[in-house]
Amino acid sequence: MLNFNDLIVALEPLGLQKKVVIAHASLRAFGHIEGGADSLVTALLYNIESLMMPSHTYKTLFTPISGPANNAVNYARAQQWNRLAEPFRPEMPADVMMGTVAEHLRQRPESKRSMHPILSFTGVNVQKILDTQTLEDPLAPLMALANSDGWCLLLGVDHTANTSIHLAEKLAGRKQFTRWALMEDGNPIVCPGFPGCSAGFETIATQMEPFVKKLTVGGALVQTFPLRALITRVYETIKKDPLALLCQRPDCERCAAVREALKN
Ligand SMILES: [Zn+2]
Repeated sequence: MLNFNDLIVALEPLGLQKKVVIAHASLRAFGHIEGGADSLVTALLYNIESLMMPSHTYKTLFTPISGPANNAVNYARAQQWNRLAEPFRPEMPADVMMGTVAEHLRQRPESKRSMHPILSFTGVNVQKILDTQTLEDPLAPLMALANSDGWCLLLGVDHTANTSIHLAEKLAGRKQFTRWALMEDGNPIVCPGFPGCSAGFETIATQMEPFVKKLTVGGALVQTFPLRALITRVYETIKKDPLALLCQRPDCERCAAVREALKN
């Protein structure tokens, strides 16, 4: 079992004290932590001056009866899910897919959150970075982070959880998608620039090796690397092979749409 002290001692050698960091975490990967996600968030904030995590809210997704073609949306079939859509609220919890650690960071009294109805980010001491996000440019905080010499931190997760790769994909010209979010007035709002699928992202791991600092905490592999190095590697990889980092699932609609867009 790990306690708070174990965590702060274990995370210290990452050298992130003065850095701006985007983290992605699986609490379960660590094994048992005394105090759970709260202990981990406190230990992270002890070791990292400026910490950001994605606090995306997929419950707000709403699909109109028609929309752009090759958008990885079956408009007719998606109608049945619209009755489950919830309008975005600033205090809406982060989606369970984001992990409980992100939700605990969001709940900190000193945390701020950006206002994108699907792709919000949250964090401490990152207000200026969060403020760069717009409806049209949902990945702008990742660019701002890169411009601040930011670092990525993967805590018990691999690159399939690494949201920053989506920014590099976009910069490399990869197809982006359109989604819609239900708003509090009951109407959906268009959310352009929605990224593709991340299931194939782990293939970038070998190229990132020279830039990665790694250690193990409990059962979790913890990796950190500069965001700029990641963006450059992903950008060059996609420029060389436009199909790179796509997943191989035969039923993946977004990867299929990217392949389709490349035929034109
Ligand atoms: Zn895919």
